[in-house]
Amino acid sequence: MNELITLNDKTFEIYLTEAEIQARVKALADRINVDYKGRKPIVLCILNGSFIFTADLVRHFNFPLTVEFVRYSSYRGTESTGRVTKILGMKSEIAGKDVLIVEDIIDTGYTLSNAVKELMRQHPASVKIASLLLKPEALKHDVACNYIGFSIPNKFVVGYGLDYDELGRDLPSIYQLKE
Ligand code: 5GP
Ligand code: MG
Repeated sequence: MNELITLNDKTFEIYLTEAEIQARVKALADRINVDYKGRKPIVLCILNGSFIFTADLVRHFNFPLTVEFVRYSSYRGTESTGRVTKILGMKSEIAGKDVLIVEDIIDTGYTLSNAVKELMRQHPASVKIASLLLKPEALKHDVACNYIGFSIPNKFVVGYGLDYDELGRDLPSIYQLKE
């Protein structure tokens, strides 16, 4: 495993190793398994960043579930644009269903607070959020996150699904932008 990586013009240093991430994902899945026992939720993967976290989580789950994908866009390079565009919507009806949203990272909280508002209009039975990462210092919008992997400083990270200009999503570890 490399300590430093370069993607386009930026250098990143190791922040969370693959082993640390996998251990934390398993611990979150253990809690979610208890909470969703006897239920059949829709696991809602927020593309693109959450595809790896979702894939790892669902393989630890021991309740029946379906998986849906939605896509929003608010980031350009390493900065949030503060605007969220929905690019891809869901196929299934969510009225009366339990929905578990799986997100890679909550930064300002703008994306998720909008996503939850929109979901609520369709009257799901419940909505919970699992986010691998949370940047508490960047949070500006009210988001009730039920399962958090790691609280991290307000620095840009890549790897494990997260990109820098679409690169780095394939990295098994998470790297932080080097100043
Ligand atoms: P928010 O709407 O909470 O400000 O931003 C959420 C989205 O921005 C995340 O789902 C993620 O796609 C992207 N994002 C926020 N912080 C980072 C970061 O540090 N690295 C990367 N690669 N994406 C981020
Ligand atoms: Mg995302």
